[in-house]
Amino acid sequence: MAKMFVAGEFRDAKSGEVTEIRNPATGEVVDTVPKGNAEDVRDAVAAAAEAFGVWSRMSTTKRGELLQGAVRLVRENEKELSTTLTKEQGKPIRESFLEIRRFAHTLEHYAGMAKTLRGGYVNLDDGRYGFILKKPMGVVGAIVPWNFPVSLMGNKVGPALLAGNTMVIKPASSTPLTASRCVELIHRAGLPKGVINIVTGPGGVVGEEILQNPKIRKIGFTGETGTGKHVMEVAAKEIKRVTLELGGSDPMIVCDDADLDRAVSAASVGRFFNCGQACLAVKRLYLFDKIADTFMERLTAKVNKLRIGDGIKRETLLGPLHTKGQREEVEEMVADAVKRGAKVLTGRKRPQGPEFDKGFFLQPTLLADVDPDARMVVEECFGPALPILRVKNLDEAIEQANRSIFGLGSSVWTRDIDRAMRAAEQIEAGYTWVNSAQIIYDELPFGGVKQSGLGREHGNENNDYYTETKSIVVAIEKRSEVVGGE
Ligand code: NDP
Repeated sequence: MAKMFVAGEFRDAKSGEVTEIRNPATGEVVDTVPKGNAEDVRDAVAAAAEAFGVWSRMSTTKRGELLQGAVRLVRENEKELSTTLTKEQGKPIRESFLEIRRFAHTLEHYAGMAKTLRGGYVNLDDGRYGFILKKPMGVVGAIVPWNFPVSLMGNKVGPALLAGNTMVIKPASSTPLTASRCVELIHRAGLPKGVINIVTGPGGVVGEEILQNPKIRKIGFTGETGTGKHVMEVAAKEIKRVTLELGGSDPMIVCDDADLDRAVSAASVGRFFNCGQACLAVKRLYLFDKIADTFMERLTAKVNKLRIGDGIKRETLLGPLHTKGQREEVEEMVADAVKRGAKVLTGRKRPQGPEFDKGFFLQPTLLADVDPDARMVVEECFGPALPILRVKNLDEAIEQANRSIFGLGSSVWTRDIDRAMRAAEQIEAGYTWVNSAQIIYDELPFGGVKQSGLGREHGNENNDYYTETKSIVVAIEKRSEVVGGE
Protein backbone atom coordinates (compact mmCIF):
# COMPACT_ATOMS: atom_id res chain seq x y z
CA MET A 1 0.00 0.00 0.00
CA ALA A 2 1.30 3.45 -0.94
CA LYS A 3 1.56 6.14 1.75
CA MET A 4 1.66 9.88 1.85
CA PHE A 5 4.93 11.58 2.61
CA VAL A 6 4.94 14.16 5.39
CA ALA A 7 7.78 15.52 7.54
CA GLY A 8 10.29 13.16 5.94
CA GLU A 9 8.33 9.97 6.62
CA PHE A 10 5.63 7.78 5.17
CA ARG A 11 2.24 8.19 6.78
CA ASP A 12 -1.23 6.73 6.69
CA ALA A 13 -4.25 9.03 6.82
CA LYS A 14 -5.30 10.03 10.32
CA SER A 15 -8.70 8.51 9.56
CA GLY A 16 -7.13 5.22 8.50
CA GLU A 17 -9.20 5.34 5.29
CA VAL A 18 -7.78 4.45 1.89
CA THR A 19 -8.70 4.96 -1.77
CA GLU A 20 -8.21 2.36 -4.51
CA ILE A 21 -6.29 3.43 -7.59
CA ARG A 22 -7.45 1.60 -10.70
CA ASN A 23 -5.81 1.12 -14.08
CA PRO A 24 -7.95 2.92 -16.73
CA ALA A 25 -6.97 0.31 -19.34
CA THR A 26 -7.90 -2.82 -17.38
CA GLY A 27 -9.94 -1.77 -14.36
CA GLU A 28 -7.47 -3.62 -12.10
CA VAL A 29 -6.51 -2.17 -8.72
CA VAL A 30 -2.95 -0.84 -9.02
CA ASP A 31 -2.56 0.13 -5.36
CA THR A 32 -4.30 1.93 -2.51
CA VAL A 33 -3.43 5.32 -1.02
CA PRO A 34 -4.37 7.03 2.23
CA LYS A 35 -7.50 9.14 2.03
CA GLY A 36 -6.23 12.25 3.81
CA ASN A 37 -8.32 14.97 5.36
CA ALA A 38 -7.87 18.52 6.69
CA GLU A 39 -6.03 17.29 9.77
CA ASP A 40 -3.42 15.56 7.60
CA VAL A 41 -2.95 18.80 5.66
CA ARG A 42 -2.52 20.77 8.88
CA ASP A 43 0.22 18.35 9.99
CA ALA A 44 1.98 18.77 6.66
CA VAL A 45 1.67 22.56 6.85
CA ALA A 46 3.15 22.52 10.37
CA ALA A 47 6.09 20.41 9.15
CA ALA A 48 6.61 22.71 6.16
CA ALA A 49 6.42 25.84 8.35
CA GLU A 50 9.02 24.39 10.70
CA ALA A 51 11.34 23.47 7.84
CA PHE A 52 11.06 26.94 6.28
CA GLY A 53 13.63 28.51 8.62
CA VAL A 54 16.52 26.23 7.77
CA TRP A 55 15.60 25.84 4.07
CA SER A 56 15.14 29.54 3.37
CA ARG A 57 18.43 30.44 5.09
CA MET A 58 20.41 27.84 3.13
CA SER A 59 22.47 29.32 0.29
CA THR A 60 20.74 29.19 -3.08
CA THR A 61 23.72 27.29 -4.50
CA LYS A 62 23.29 24.57 -1.88
CA ARG A 63 19.57 24.32 -2.62
CA GLY A 64 20.45 23.99 -6.30
CA GLU A 65 22.88 21.15 -5.55
CA LEU A 66 20.22 19.28 -3.60
CA LEU A 67 17.73 19.74 -6.44
CA GLN A 68 20.34 18.39 -8.85
CA GLY A 69 20.72 15.37 -6.58
CA ALA A 70 16.96 14.86 -6.84
CA VAL A 71 17.23 14.95 -10.63
CA ARG A 72 19.79 12.12 -10.50
CA LEU A 73 17.53 9.98 -8.33
CA VAL A 74 14.54 10.56 -10.62
CA ARG A 75 16.60 9.59 -13.66
CA GLU A 76 17.95 6.45 -11.96
CA ASN A 77 14.37 5.37 -11.24
CA GLU A 78 12.74 6.42 -14.50
CA LYS A 79 11.73 2.91 -15.53
CA GLU A 80 9.87 2.20 -12.31
CA LEU A 81 8.30 5.69 -12.29
CA SER A 82 7.17 5.43 -15.92
CA THR A 83 5.61 2.02 -15.38
CA THR A 84 3.63 3.21 -12.36
CA LEU A 85 2.56 6.32 -14.27
CA THR A 86 1.18 4.26 -17.16
CA LYS A 87 -0.65 1.96 -14.78
CA GLU A 88 -2.36 4.71 -12.80
CA GLN A 89 -2.93 7.24 -15.61
CA GLY A 90 -3.34 5.06 -18.71
CA LYS A 91 -0.91 6.84 -21.05
CA PRO A 92 1.36 4.84 -23.40
CA ILE A 93 4.62 3.83 -21.75
CA ARG A 94 6.73 5.90 -24.14
CA GLU A 95 4.74 9.00 -23.16
CA SER A 96 5.32 8.15 -19.49
CA PHE A 97 9.07 8.07 -20.11
CA LEU A 98 8.76 11.46 -21.82
CA GLU A 99 6.87 12.86 -18.85
CA ILE A 100 9.39 11.61 -16.29
CA ARG A 101 12.24 13.03 -18.42
CA ARG A 102 10.43 16.34 -18.69
CA PHE A 103 10.01 16.41 -14.91
CA ALA A 104 13.75 15.80 -14.43
CA HIS A 105 14.55 18.44 -17.06
CA THR A 106 12.37 21.02 -15.31
CA LEU A 107 13.96 20.38 -11.91
CA GLU A 108 17.39 20.54 -13.53
CA HIS A 109 16.52 23.78 -15.28
CA TYR A 110 15.77 25.46 -11.94
CA ALA A 111 18.70 23.76 -10.18
CA GLY A 112 20.91 25.26 -12.89
CA MET A 113 19.68 28.78 -12.10
CA ALA A 114 20.88 28.53 -8.52
CA LYS A 115 24.32 29.97 -9.15
CA THR A 116 23.15 33.02 -11.07
CA LEU A 117 20.07 34.17 -9.14
CA ARG A 118 20.57 37.70 -7.85
CA GLY A 119 18.64 40.58 -6.44
CA GLY A 120 19.20 44.23 -7.35
CA TYR A 121 21.01 47.34 -6.22
CA VAL A 122 20.37 51.02 -6.98
CA ASN A 123 22.42 54.07 -6.04
CA LEU A 124 19.71 56.45 -4.81
CA ASP A 125 20.41 60.14 -4.32
CA ASP A 126 21.33 61.82 -1.08
CA GLY A 127 23.61 59.09 0.31
CA ARG A 128 20.98 56.46 0.11
CA TYR A 129 21.29 53.00 -1.38
CA GLY A 130 18.47 50.80 -2.50
CA PHE A 131 18.45 47.00 -2.53
CA ILE A 132 15.87 44.76 -4.16
CA LEU A 133 15.40 41.45 -2.42
CA LYS A 134 13.65 38.38 -3.84
CA LYS A 135 12.39 36.61 -0.75
CA PRO A 136 10.77 33.20 -0.49
CA MET A 137 7.10 33.33 0.44
CA GLY A 138 6.92 30.62 3.09
CA VAL A 139 4.79 27.50 2.76
CA VAL A 140 3.33 27.12 -0.72
CA GLY A 141 0.58 24.75 -1.81
CA ALA A 142 0.63 22.91 -5.14
CA ILE A 143 -2.55 21.34 -6.56
CA VAL A 144 -2.07 19.12 -9.58
CA PRO A 145 -4.46 17.37 -12.04
CA TRP A 146 -4.41 13.80 -13.36
CA ASN A 147 -3.42 14.32 -17.00
CA PHE A 148 0.29 15.04 -16.39
CA PRO A 149 0.56 14.28 -12.67
CA VAL A 150 4.36 14.43 -12.54
CA SER A 151 5.50 17.10 -14.98
CA LEU A 152 2.86 19.60 -13.82
CA MET A 153 4.04 19.03 -10.26
CA GLY A 154 7.62 19.74 -11.42
CA ASN A 155 6.60 23.16 -12.77
CA LYS A 156 5.78 24.14 -9.19
CA VAL A 157 8.45 22.20 -7.27
CA GLY A 158 11.43 23.56 -9.27
CA PRO A 159 10.93 27.31 -8.73
CA ALA A 160 9.31 26.95 -5.29
CA LEU A 161 12.19 24.99 -3.76
CA LEU A 162 14.88 26.97 -5.56
CA ALA A 163 13.52 30.19 -4.04
CA GLY A 164 13.58 28.73 -0.52
CA ASN A 165 9.89 27.96 -0.04
CA THR A 166 8.64 24.75 1.53
CA MET A 167 5.74 22.81 0.03
CA VAL A 168 2.54 20.89 0.59
CA ILE A 169 1.46 19.11 -2.58
CA LYS A 170 -1.93 17.61 -3.42
CA PRO A 171 -1.99 15.24 -6.40
CA ALA A 172 -5.25 14.40 -8.19
CA SER A 173 -7.23 11.70 -6.37
CA SER A 174 -6.82 9.23 -9.21
CA THR A 175 -3.06 9.74 -9.87
CA PRO A 176 -1.21 9.98 -6.55
CA LEU A 177 1.26 7.09 -6.91
CA THR A 178 4.06 8.34 -9.16
CA ALA A 179 3.86 11.84 -7.70
CA SER A 180 4.24 10.53 -4.13
CA ARG A 181 7.21 8.38 -5.14
CA CYS A 182 8.84 11.42 -6.80
CA VAL A 183 8.36 13.47 -3.64
CA GLU A 184 10.05 10.73 -1.63
CA LEU A 185 12.99 10.70 -4.10
CA ILE A 186 13.36 14.48 -3.95
CA HIS A 187 13.45 14.29 -0.16
CA ARG A 188 16.03 11.50 -0.28
CA ALA A 189 18.41 13.79 -2.18
CA GLY A 190 19.15 15.32 1.24
CA LEU A 191 16.43 17.90 1.85
CA PRO A 192 15.66 18.69 5.48
CA LYS A 193 12.51 16.89 6.64
CA GLY A 194 9.34 18.86 6.05
CA VAL A 195 10.64 20.85 3.06
CA ILE A 196 8.52 18.81 0.64
CA ASN A 197 5.30 17.04 1.67
CA ILE A 198 2.50 15.36 -0.24
CA VAL A 199 -0.99 14.72 1.10
CA THR A 200 -3.30 12.40 -0.84
CA GLY A 201 -7.07 12.77 -0.65
CA PRO A 202 -10.11 14.42 -2.24
CA GLY A 203 -10.01 17.91 -3.75
CA GLY A 204 -13.01 19.07 -1.76
CA VAL A 205 -11.26 18.13 1.51
CA VAL A 206 -7.47 18.10 1.15
CA GLY A 207 -7.45 20.70 -1.66
CA GLU A 208 -9.92 22.89 0.17
CA GLU A 209 -7.79 22.93 3.34
CA ILE A 210 -4.77 23.94 1.25
CA LEU A 211 -6.81 26.85 -0.14
CA GLN A 212 -8.14 27.88 3.27
CA ASN A 213 -5.12 27.34 5.51
CA PRO A 214 -3.82 30.79 6.52
CA LYS A 215 -0.23 29.54 6.86
CA ILE A 216 -0.09 28.75 3.14
CA ARG A 217 0.94 31.94 1.34
CA LYS A 218 0.69 30.87 -2.27
CA ILE A 219 -1.18 28.33 -4.37
CA GLY A 220 0.19 26.91 -7.61
CA PHE A 221 -2.88 25.35 -9.25
CA THR A 222 -3.35 23.44 -12.49
CA GLY A 223 -6.79 22.16 -13.39
CA GLU A 224 -10.14 23.07 -14.86
CA THR A 225 -11.15 26.69 -15.33
CA GLY A 226 -14.18 26.20 -13.05
CA THR A 227 -12.01 24.89 -10.20
CA GLY A 228 -9.52 27.69 -10.89
CA LYS A 229 -12.24 30.29 -10.33
CA HIS A 230 -12.99 28.69 -6.98
CA VAL A 231 -9.28 28.67 -6.06
CA MET A 232 -9.05 32.38 -6.84
CA GLU A 233 -12.18 33.17 -4.88
CA VAL A 234 -11.00 31.37 -1.74
CA ALA A 235 -7.45 32.72 -2.08
CA ALA A 236 -8.87 36.26 -2.25
CA LYS A 237 -9.97 36.03 1.38
CA GLU A 238 -6.36 36.11 2.55
CA ILE A 239 -4.93 37.78 -0.59
CA LYS A 240 -2.96 34.59 -1.20
CA ARG A 241 -0.80 34.60 -4.30
CA VAL A 242 -2.05 32.30 -7.04
CA THR A 243 -0.73 30.89 -10.27
CA LEU A 244 -3.55 29.36 -12.28
CA GLU A 245 -2.89 27.07 -15.25
CA LEU A 246 -6.37 26.26 -16.55
CA GLY A 247 -8.23 24.88 -19.54
CA GLY A 248 -7.51 25.60 -23.18
CA SER A 249 -8.94 25.16 -26.66
CA ASP A 250 -5.95 25.76 -28.88
CA PRO A 251 -6.60 26.74 -32.51
CA MET A 252 -4.31 25.42 -35.24
CA ILE A 253 -4.46 27.41 -38.48
CA VAL A 254 -3.17 25.84 -41.68
CA CYS A 255 -2.75 28.28 -44.58
CA ASP A 256 -2.74 27.26 -48.23
CA ASP A 257 1.06 27.67 -48.53
CA ALA A 258 1.92 25.46 -45.54
CA ASP A 259 4.18 22.40 -45.54
CA LEU A 260 1.27 19.99 -45.35
CA ASP A 261 3.19 16.87 -44.34
CA ARG A 262 4.67 18.53 -41.28
CA ALA A 263 1.36 20.18 -40.41
CA VAL A 264 -0.53 16.87 -40.69
CA SER A 265 1.94 15.24 -38.37
CA ALA A 266 1.70 18.13 -35.85
CA ALA A 267 -2.11 17.97 -35.93
CA SER A 268 -2.09 14.24 -35.22
CA VAL A 269 0.40 14.42 -32.35
CA GLY A 270 -1.08 17.69 -31.11
CA ARG A 271 -4.56 16.22 -30.77
CA PHE A 272 -3.93 12.59 -29.81
CA PHE A 273 -0.91 12.77 -27.48
CA ASN A 274 -2.00 11.61 -24.00
CA CYS A 275 -5.28 10.50 -25.63
CA GLY A 276 -6.15 14.17 -26.18
CA GLN A 277 -6.15 14.89 -22.46
CA ALA A 278 -3.79 17.83 -22.45
CA CYS A 279 -4.39 21.48 -21.69
CA LEU A 280 -2.04 22.36 -24.49
CA ALA A 281 -3.43 20.45 -27.46
CA VAL A 282 -4.75 21.09 -30.93
CA LYS A 283 -8.46 21.34 -30.09
CA ARG A 284 -9.75 23.31 -33.11
CA LEU A 285 -8.33 22.89 -36.62
CA TYR A 286 -8.90 25.73 -39.14
CA LEU A 287 -8.01 24.82 -42.71
CA PHE A 288 -7.85 27.19 -45.69
CA ASP A 289 -10.48 26.07 -48.22
CA LYS A 290 -7.90 25.41 -50.93
CA ILE A 291 -6.02 22.70 -49.02
CA ALA A 292 -8.81 21.47 -46.72
CA ASP A 293 -9.78 18.28 -48.59
CA THR A 294 -6.19 17.15 -49.19
CA PHE A 295 -5.28 17.88 -45.58
CA MET A 296 -8.24 15.94 -44.18
CA GLU A 297 -7.47 12.97 -46.41
CA ARG A 298 -3.84 12.81 -45.24
CA LEU A 299 -4.73 13.39 -41.58
CA THR A 300 -7.39 10.66 -41.67
CA ALA A 301 -4.88 8.18 -43.12
CA LYS A 302 -2.38 9.04 -40.38
CA VAL A 303 -4.87 8.89 -37.53
CA ASN A 304 -6.16 5.51 -38.70
CA LYS A 305 -2.69 4.11 -38.05
CA LEU A 306 -2.72 5.03 -34.33
CA ARG A 307 -2.60 1.74 -32.43
CA ILE A 308 -5.06 1.71 -29.54
CA GLY A 309 -4.41 -0.43 -26.48
CA ASP A 310 -3.14 -0.85 -22.95
CA GLY A 311 -0.39 1.74 -22.51
CA ILE A 312 1.93 -0.82 -20.94
CA LYS A 313 2.38 -2.49 -24.37
CA ARG A 314 5.32 -0.93 -26.23
CA GLU A 315 3.42 -0.71 -29.53
CA THR A 316 0.51 1.30 -28.12
CA LEU A 317 0.18 4.85 -29.40
CA LEU A 318 -3.23 5.70 -27.97
CA GLY A 319 -4.21 4.58 -24.48
CA PRO A 320 -7.62 4.76 -22.81
CA LEU A 321 -9.24 7.91 -21.50
CA HIS A 322 -8.56 8.35 -17.82
CA THR A 323 -12.11 7.88 -16.51
CA LYS A 324 -15.53 6.63 -17.53
CA GLY A 325 -16.94 10.16 -17.14
CA GLN A 326 -14.20 11.63 -19.31
CA ARG A 327 -15.04 9.24 -22.16
CA GLU A 328 -18.76 9.93 -21.87
CA GLU A 329 -18.19 13.68 -22.00
CA VAL A 330 -16.16 13.41 -25.21
CA GLU A 331 -18.79 11.11 -26.74
CA GLU A 332 -21.50 13.63 -25.87
CA MET A 333 -19.56 16.44 -27.49
CA VAL A 334 -19.04 14.38 -30.64
CA ALA A 335 -22.77 13.51 -30.74
CA ASP A 336 -23.64 17.19 -30.39
CA ALA A 337 -21.36 18.13 -33.33
CA VAL A 338 -22.81 15.35 -35.51
CA LYS A 339 -26.35 16.47 -34.65
CA ARG A 340 -25.40 19.93 -35.86
CA GLY A 341 -24.27 18.52 -39.23
CA ALA A 342 -20.60 17.56 -38.78
CA LYS A 343 -19.27 14.76 -40.96
CA VAL A 344 -17.40 11.89 -39.26
CA LEU A 345 -14.12 11.34 -41.15
CA THR A 346 -12.99 8.58 -38.82
CA GLY A 347 -13.56 7.18 -35.33
CA ARG A 348 -16.44 7.91 -32.97
CA LYS A 349 -16.86 4.31 -31.80
CA ARG A 350 -15.49 2.39 -28.86
CA PRO A 351 -13.01 -0.23 -30.13
CA GLN A 352 -14.34 -3.77 -29.80
CA GLY A 353 -12.61 -6.88 -28.46
CA PRO A 354 -11.71 -8.48 -25.14
CA GLU A 355 -8.64 -6.27 -24.65
CA PHE A 356 -10.83 -3.14 -24.70
CA ASP A 357 -13.80 -4.30 -22.62
CA LYS A 358 -12.62 -3.13 -19.22
CA GLY A 359 -10.92 0.11 -20.25
CA PHE A 360 -12.20 3.55 -21.26
CA PHE A 361 -11.07 3.34 -24.87
CA LEU A 362 -12.39 5.47 -27.73
CA GLN A 363 -11.33 5.52 -31.36
CA PRO A 364 -9.48 8.67 -32.43
CA THR A 365 -12.14 10.83 -34.04
CA LEU A 366 -11.99 13.47 -36.77
CA LEU A 367 -15.04 15.59 -37.58
CA ALA A 368 -15.27 17.82 -40.67
CA ASP A 369 -17.30 20.97 -41.22
CA VAL A 370 -18.19 21.37 -37.55
CA ASP A 371 -20.60 24.13 -36.56
CA PRO A 372 -18.60 26.92 -34.82
CA ASP A 373 -21.24 26.88 -32.07
CA ALA A 374 -20.86 23.14 -31.41
CA ARG A 375 -19.89 22.23 -27.83
CA MET A 376 -16.55 20.76 -28.88
CA VAL A 377 -15.56 24.09 -30.46
CA VAL A 378 -16.90 26.35 -27.72
CA GLU A 379 -15.96 24.26 -24.67
CA GLU A 380 -12.75 22.40 -23.93
CA CYS A 381 -12.83 18.94 -25.55
CA PHE A 382 -10.56 16.86 -23.32
CA GLY A 383 -10.13 13.68 -25.33
CA PRO A 384 -9.31 12.13 -28.72
CA ALA A 385 -11.73 14.07 -30.96
CA LEU A 386 -10.87 16.94 -33.27
CA PRO A 387 -13.30 19.43 -34.87
CA ILE A 388 -12.18 20.69 -38.29
CA LEU A 389 -13.48 23.94 -39.77
CA ARG A 390 -12.87 25.51 -43.20
CA VAL A 391 -11.87 29.18 -43.50
CA LYS A 392 -11.52 31.50 -46.49
CA ASN A 393 -8.47 33.43 -45.36
CA LEU A 394 -6.24 34.36 -42.43
CA ASP A 395 -8.50 37.15 -41.18
CA GLU A 396 -11.40 34.75 -40.85
CA ALA A 397 -9.16 32.13 -39.20
CA ILE A 398 -7.89 34.60 -36.60
CA GLU A 399 -11.38 35.93 -35.96
CA GLN A 400 -12.67 32.38 -35.35
CA ALA A 401 -9.61 31.43 -33.30
CA ASN A 402 -10.21 34.36 -30.97
CA ARG A 403 -13.89 33.54 -30.56
CA SER A 404 -13.16 31.55 -27.40
CA ILE A 405 -13.11 32.12 -23.68
CA PHE A 406 -9.74 30.32 -23.66
CA GLY A 407 -6.30 31.56 -24.68
CA LEU A 408 -3.60 29.02 -23.91
CA GLY A 409 -1.69 27.71 -26.94
CA SER A 410 -2.12 28.20 -30.69
CA SER A 411 -0.26 27.49 -33.90
CA VAL A 412 -0.08 28.79 -37.44
CA TRP A 413 1.32 27.01 -40.48
CA THR A 414 2.50 29.12 -43.42
CA ARG A 415 5.68 29.86 -45.40
CA ASP A 416 4.75 33.55 -45.60
CA ILE A 417 6.48 35.57 -42.88
CA ASP A 418 3.88 38.36 -43.03
CA ARG A 419 1.06 35.92 -42.40
CA ALA A 420 3.04 34.22 -39.63
CA MET A 421 3.76 37.47 -37.80
CA ARG A 422 0.22 38.75 -38.19
CA ALA A 423 -1.22 35.56 -36.73
CA ALA A 424 1.38 35.41 -33.94
CA GLU A 425 0.58 38.97 -32.92
CA GLN A 426 -3.19 38.80 -33.22
CA ILE A 427 -4.10 35.38 -31.82
CA GLU A 428 -5.17 35.81 -28.21
CA ALA A 429 -3.07 33.16 -26.47
CA GLY A 430 -0.11 32.83 -24.16
CA TYR A 431 1.89 30.92 -26.79
CA THR A 432 1.92 30.74 -30.60
CA TRP A 433 3.99 28.17 -32.46
CA VAL A 434 4.83 28.95 -36.09
CA ASN A 435 5.38 25.86 -38.25
CA SER A 436 6.08 23.88 -35.10
CA ALA A 437 4.34 21.26 -33.06
CA GLN A 438 3.13 22.54 -29.71
CA ILE A 439 6.05 21.52 -27.51
CA ILE A 440 6.73 23.14 -24.14
CA TYR A 441 10.17 24.53 -23.35
CA ASP A 442 11.49 25.12 -19.85
CA GLU A 443 13.35 28.09 -21.29
CA LEU A 444 10.18 30.01 -22.24
CA PRO A 445 7.35 31.30 -20.04
CA PHE A 446 4.09 29.40 -20.43
CA GLY A 447 0.58 30.31 -19.33
CA GLY A 448 -2.79 31.46 -20.48
CA VAL A 449 -4.63 34.66 -21.28
CA LYS A 450 -8.41 35.12 -20.84
CA GLN A 451 -9.91 32.18 -18.90
CA SER A 452 -6.89 29.92 -19.46
CA GLY A 453 -5.09 31.22 -16.44
CA LEU A 454 -3.13 33.73 -14.50
CA GLY A 455 0.62 33.98 -14.09
CA ARG A 456 3.33 31.99 -15.83
CA GLU A 457 5.13 28.69 -15.33
CA HIS A 458 8.47 27.70 -16.92
CA GLY A 459 11.09 30.24 -17.90
CA ASN A 460 12.80 32.73 -15.59
CA GLU A 461 9.37 34.31 -15.11
CA ASN A 462 8.25 31.37 -12.98
CA ASN A 463 10.68 32.50 -10.24
CA ASP A 464 8.72 35.75 -9.85
CA TYR A 465 5.64 33.76 -8.91
CA TYR A 466 7.41 32.04 -6.01
CA THR A 467 9.11 35.08 -4.48
CA GLU A 468 8.07 38.37 -2.89
CA THR A 469 9.95 41.44 -4.02
CA LYS A 470 11.11 43.65 -1.20
CA SER A 471 12.87 47.03 -1.33
CA ILE A 472 15.36 48.15 1.29
CA VAL A 473 16.79 51.65 1.59
CA VAL A 474 20.01 52.18 3.53
CA ALA A 475 21.11 55.75 4.33
CA ILE A 476 24.75 56.24 5.20
CA GLU A 477 24.74 60.03 5.69
CA LYS A 478 22.49 62.12 7.82
CA ARG A 479 21.01 64.78 5.56
CA SER A 480 17.79 66.74 5.89
CA GLU A 481 14.93 64.23 5.87
CA VAL A 482 12.39 65.15 3.21
CA VAL A 483 8.95 63.81 3.97
CA GLY A 484 7.11 62.26 1.08
CA GLY A 485 4.76 59.46 0.42
CA GLU A 486 2.31 57.86 -1.87
P1 NDP B 1 -9.76 19.65 -11.70
O1 NDP B 1 -9.87 21.12 -11.61
O2 NDP B 1 -10.98 18.83 -11.52
O3 NDP B 1 -8.71 19.10 -10.63
C1 NDP B 1 -7.42 19.62 -10.52
C2 NDP B 1 -6.92 19.44 -9.10
O4 NDP B 1 -7.72 20.25 -8.23
C3 NDP B 1 -7.05 18.01 -8.57
O5 NDP B 1 -5.96 17.73 -7.74
C4 NDP B 1 -8.34 18.08 -7.77
O6 NDP B 1 -8.43 17.10 -6.78
C5 NDP B 1 -8.22 19.46 -7.17
N1 NDP B 1 -9.47 20.02 -6.68
C6 NDP B 1 -10.73 19.71 -7.05
N2 NDP B 1 -11.63 20.43 -6.32
C7 NDP B 1 -10.92 21.21 -5.48
C8 NDP B 1 -11.26 22.17 -4.47
N3 NDP B 1 -12.52 22.47 -4.16
N4 NDP B 1 -10.27 22.79 -3.80
C9 NDP B 1 -8.98 22.51 -4.10
N5 NDP B 1 -8.59 21.60 -5.02
C10 NDP B 1 -9.55 20.96 -5.71
O7 NDP B 1 -9.06 19.38 -13.09
P2 NDP B 1 -8.78 17.97 -13.79
O8 NDP B 1 -8.07 17.09 -12.83
O9 NDP B 1 -10.03 17.50 -14.41
O10 NDP B 1 -7.71 18.39 -14.87
C11 NDP B 1 -8.03 18.69 -16.19
C12 NDP B 1 -8.04 20.19 -16.43
O11 NDP B 1 -6.75 20.74 -16.16
C13 NDP B 1 -8.35 20.55 -17.84
O12 NDP B 1 -9.26 21.61 -17.90
C14 NDP B 1 -7.00 21.01 -18.39
O13 NDP B 1 -7.10 21.84 -19.50
C15 NDP B 1 -6.39 21.63 -17.21
N6 NDP B 1 -4.94 21.68 -17.37
C16 NDP B 1 -4.33 22.91 -17.54
C17 NDP B 1 -2.98 22.99 -17.79
C18 NDP B 1 -2.29 24.31 -17.96
O14 NDP B 1 -1.07 24.34 -17.79
N7 NDP B 1 -2.97 25.38 -18.30
C19 NDP B 1 -2.16 21.78 -17.89
C20 NDP B 1 -2.90 20.56 -17.71
C21 NDP B 1 -4.24 20.53 -17.44
P3 NDP B 1 -9.25 15.72 -7.04
O15 NDP B 1 -8.54 14.99 -8.10
O16 NDP B 1 -9.15 15.06 -5.71
O17 NDP B 1 -10.66 16.11 -7.41
